[in-house]
Amino acid sequence: MIEKDKVHNAAADLTKVGAEVYDICVSRGLDPDALKIRNLREKENLSQRMIAKIVNFLKLEENLCEYFDAFQKNYQEQKRAAKIAYEKAMALYRELKPAEGFLGDNFNSGVDRLDDFVSFFGVESEDEIQKKAQRIPALFKTQNQTKVNQLLLQVWLRKGEIECAKRSFPTFRREKLQEWLDNGEWHANLNNPEYFISLPAKFAEMGICLLLLPYLQKTVYGSVQWIEQTPVVMVSDRERDLATAWVTLFHEIGHVLRHGNRLALDHEIAAVATARETKIEREANESVNRYLFKSDNLRKIIFSAKKRDDIKAVVNMAISCNVNDLFVGYWMRKAQFRPKEATRIKVQFR
Ligand SMILES: [Zn+2]
Repeated sequence: MIEKDKVHNAAADLTKVGAEVYDICVSRGLDPDALKIRNLREKENLSQRMIAKIVNFLKLEENLCEYFDAFQKNYQEQKRAAKIAYEKAMALYRELKPAEGFLGDNFNSGVDRLDDFVSFFGVESEDEIQKKAQRIPALFKTQNQTKVNQLLLQVWLRKGEIECAKRSFPTFRREKLQEWLDNGEWHANLNNPEYFISLPAKFAEMGICLLLLPYLQKTVYGSVQWIEQTPVVMVSDRERDLATAWVTLFHEIGHVLRHGNRLALDHEIAAVATARETKIEREANESVNRYLFKSDNLRKIIFSAKKRDDIKAVVNMAISCNVNDLFVGYWMRKAQFRPKEATRIKVQFR
């Protein structure tokens, strides 16, 4: 199978003046080789002398000099325009390249890879892809000025739309989600990556489209977007770490429960509390603290134990508060406190 172009260069489709001469010769039953011009068909520019020679050879009544001259000028103009368009398209493609894996098998019939992205976004042209990237909600912009690539973030969110549209979900019922939170099943399976990976099926029954996706560079740990009445919760495997995946999931669940579809879109970058976080983010993190860390004390204790290098305080605290080792390990790594001793379970989404 021939790998298709990343971006097709339209200059390759233009007819060179040499090829035009060649075709005219053939159509008139003349042998173009008799002109003795090497690589005739590849010639982009012919001198006036050469043109005169060709016209003479073709034995045409009308003067074709002007025709060939205009032909090659037009070619040069079109070639320049094609080059500019190609470079622009190539720059866009390069920016999107890390997300090629998100296209899957459904978007591969375009003329080139960039065209596959055009279909993926459900738009008409490359320009519309770029316009989409500028439509990022204000909340998100103020939180993350530098790290996120808005174009890749659009790929991430669009993936959510596409996957959500593939099936129908029952009406979302928050009491079902609350029931799952309260029934303790997840708690008994905190250290079990297979359980986490099985969650999308469970969440579908509650009317939630939960997607576990590979981390897309320069984007987010997770997000929530509402598509009509369905919350689409997306969790990435950034850090390939089960604790991080749980934290992201519970953060997003926090948004679903606290903010409903008033929050049209959430992009969680830091996964946990930062000094800059907004009220909305703080509220979402409350569900992480309440369910996974039991309180915000875990973070505080681990950061302060680090200062005293007091691992015992951490162990005692974890036992007395009944916090899973996974999250003790999570904060130990965040605090850079004996990270090698910290519990860690790997997880990966495909
Ligand atoms: Zn959030």
